[in-house]
Amino acid sequence: MTHDVLRRAADLAIQFRQGLPERRVGAQTDRATLLAALGGPLPEAGTDPVEVIEQLAAAADPGIIGMSGPRYFGFVIGGSLPASVGADWLTSAWDQNAGIYAAGPAASVVEEVAAAWLLELLDLPATASVGFVTGAQMANFSCLAAARHAVLARAGWDVGARGLSGAPEVTVVVSDEAHATVLTALGYLGLGRERNLRIPADAQGRMRVDQLEGVLGRVDGPLIVCLQAGNVNTGAFDDAVRATEAVRRHPNTWVHVDGAFGLWARSSADLASAAAGLEAADSWAVDGHKWLNVPYDSGYAIVADPAAHVAALAPAAGAYIQYAAAERDPFNFVPEYSRRARGFATYAAIRELGREGVASMIERCCTIAAHMADRLRVAEGIEVLNDVVLNQVLVRFHPSAGGDVDAHTRNVVARIQADGGAWLGATTWNGMAAMRISVSNWSTSQADADRAVELILRSATDA
Ligand SMILES: *Cc1c(COP(=O)(O)O)cnc(C)c1O
Repeated sequence: MTHDVLRRAADLAIQFRQGLPERRVGAQTDRATLLAALGGPLPEAGTDPVEVIEQLAAAADPGIIGMSGPRYFGFVIGGSLPASVGADWLTSAWDQNAGIYAAGPAASVVEEVAAAWLLELLDLPATASVGFVTGAQMANFSCLAAARHAVLARAGWDVGARGLSGAPEVTVVVSDEAHATVLTALGYLGLGRERNLRIPADAQGRMRVDQLEGVLGRVDGPLIVCLQAGNVNTGAFDDAVRATEAVRRHPNTWVHVDGAFGLWARSSADLASAAAGLEAADSWAVDGHKWLNVPYDSGYAIVADPAAHVAALAPAAGAYIQYAAAERDPFNFVPEYSRRARGFATYAAIRELGREGVASMIERCCTIAAHMADRLRVAEGIEVLNDVVLNQVLVRFHPSAGGDVDAHTRNVVARIQADGGAWLGATTWNGMAAMRISVSNWSTSQADADRAVELILRSATDA
């Protein structure tokens, strides 16, 4: 029985993956159709497992986006490397509870190994600690929990024990371009989504560090400053060297970096200069499921001071828990207790590519993004809005007969999405409608990029 169902699932998965390169990228149906195929009353009786899997795959298929394929350029969404998907399958088959070493020794050790590899790839301090979380949202949360703990501890306040009521005021600084998940994390932590100092950003979305310097002159007490490595629209980096220098003039500070995808620039000798100075921060949020091409979900909360990391996140003692002596209990670094053995997929991705493979994947994505920008910017009526410094391109479409550029731009994006040959999303940048191109997939080739460019050019003229 187990044999049959897993075989069938593997066959269906392999079939899907093989069809991915030519599959229509967008959804092929709507909610009502999916509901009709998948819904119905709670089943009273059980069903044969093979049948469950076959019916699920058939019914879900039209609602499965070709997100892992080579012509998905939406949001910032990576694909999934073959070894990483295989390791993820095994993770489910092994079904380890990777909260503690005693419940998953191999899971714990693999996290230990993958953590060291990640730090080396990202050129971050080898002594930092890494929590394997679901994504950059929880990485931002985990890192900022460590930040909150550390700056308040230095001010003589144990926030874990006493909470925030009556605590010394913590000043939090973010830029106007901070990712929504940073603000959400601040909300979760009781620091407030809005109770922070906002620094304006420049035309590329970088924090105006001159303004940061001005604001810091008026601040005292515990201070947390959030920087960004890789703006979600432009790919731009905050100037970490100058920002960190200004922040460190204060006695009690924590610099956090949201580097969900941008931090990967540090894995490439050619691109690392864009992300210079970030190693001097106190914590870093990075994704595995974006640019490392690990399947969902995968993110890393990296903290320079492991003691602060553990103090903020380690669960309260449980009498029945068998804690590790010299080994790593993974739950000390994440806001979870029982948890998936998330390290296996990351470990496999890094082993599949090696240091050279990671660097060349990151570089290739950037080269392809620049190529797409070059082809588009010379076309009549197409404007590239950002300096293409990484893997992100912002495009705006001007109607040939004149008229509403925003409406036309949205119209072009809608046409591309309706075609299904590639998927690109819309955004608003500096008050203007724009289309986003994000090149984040290991399997995207120059030919895929050219096919997408042809579709974009066609949709821009037809619209
Ligand atoms: C995607 C992204 C996030 C959120 O990451 P998730 O993995 O979706 O939780 C945070 N910050 C930046 C800059 C991002 O690009």
